[in-house]
Amino acid sequence: MKNNCGWLKKRPVPGPGSDLATWSDRHSQIFGLEPHDVKHSWSSFVHLVDPEDRARVQLAILTALKPHGALEVEYRINRPDGRARWVMSKGRTYCDSAGEPMRMVGLTMDITERKQLEHDLLKTQSDLARVSRLLTLGELTSSIAHEVNQPLVAVVTNGDACMRWLTAEPPKLDKVRESLVWIVKEGKRAGEIIKRIRELAKNKAPQKTELMINDVITEVINLAGSELSNNQVTLRTEFASDLPTVCGDRVQLQQVILNLIANAIDAMKSIHQHPRELSISSRATDDGQILITVRDCGMGVEPNILENVFKAFFTTKKEGMGLGLSISRTIVEAHGGRMWALSNNDQGATFQFTLPMVAGAHA
Ligand code: ADP
Repeated sequence: MKNNCGWLKKRPVPGPGSDLATWSDRHSQIFGLEPHDVKHSWSSFVHLVDPEDRARVQLAILTALKPHGALEVEYRINRPDGRARWVMSKGRTYCDSAGEPMRMVGLTMDITERKQLEHDLLKTQSDLARVSRLLTLGELTSSIAHEVNQPLVAVVTNGDACMRWLTAEPPKLDKVRESLVWIVKEGKRAGEIIKRIRELAKNKAPQKTELMINDVITEVINLAGSELSNNQVTLRTEFASDLPTVCGDRVQLQQVILNLIANAIDAMKSIHQHPRELSISSRATDDGQILITVRDCGMGVEPNILENVFKAFFTTKKEGMGLGLSISRTIVEAHGGRMWALSNNDQGATFQFTLPMVAGAHA
């Protein structure tokens, strides 16, 4: 529903200091009020705005109260009939010759359906991302099993050693203590690995925190480590050591890197004539971004399909879903970055993405 003229205010200017407003009938209907029934006022308007959005709406209106000031704000309202709606108000400020605001004229649209669609879309994207993550994790099962198994082997070995030190005459308690320290350390390591995998498998709402991107990449490399060695892939990393932090969702960014590594491994499976090498690097760019590069020497991407690989359901693999890169690009863009592919001059493909660094952050 779109209203006609919404606000019309004369001096004193609209805002907390004024209580004059004229609403059209349609405008009143959007707010769930009977036309002519209520004396519309600034305070009654503010009262209808959802408390969580109130300060933001007030600030937007006050900020727009200046010569040529324009208002555009989306917010929730709680109508007197109990129905919550999403609306968008647009307005323009008219000032007198001294530049003093005289009135703001605007309109309000009911955008509840659009908001619902946006919400459904985000939910679908997040479900799809999870399915794709689970599929990639599935491909790495043996690598993950190996990763979990390593600390467990260490625990058992140290446990055996403890028994030997205890049965010695006299018992070697300092050695027992040493082994127990190892057992606790390795036990914690196994717990950490399982926690990371569970987080990747969970359907959790994205949560942005300040992250060191090199740590995020290293965590993924650890998960995929034996998949790399099983496929005779040599990994080279070149991480800038003084990188500022980025603001992001750890699981989503892990998913992006996991996708790129899994694709690189796939692309190198058919290569036998030269060593399989994967290099992952990170560095800061001059324009305040962090650039992550994943370069392989696999079968490469034809220059004419460099953009297609990011389209949903584009795949050249027999069992591919064609979702990994399109989801990865969506994730990167939702973090304020960009992602693209390059065809290497010699052999293979390079995938790069940027993430904005947190302003003022230092490593
Ligand atoms: P999937 O892996 O299921 O095919 P993706 O979206 O991850 O889905 O990848 C889409 C396509 O992009 C792949 O099928 C492949 O053709 C191409 N591709 C992705 N990464 C590489 C790479 N490192 N080297 C060559 N081609 C690649």
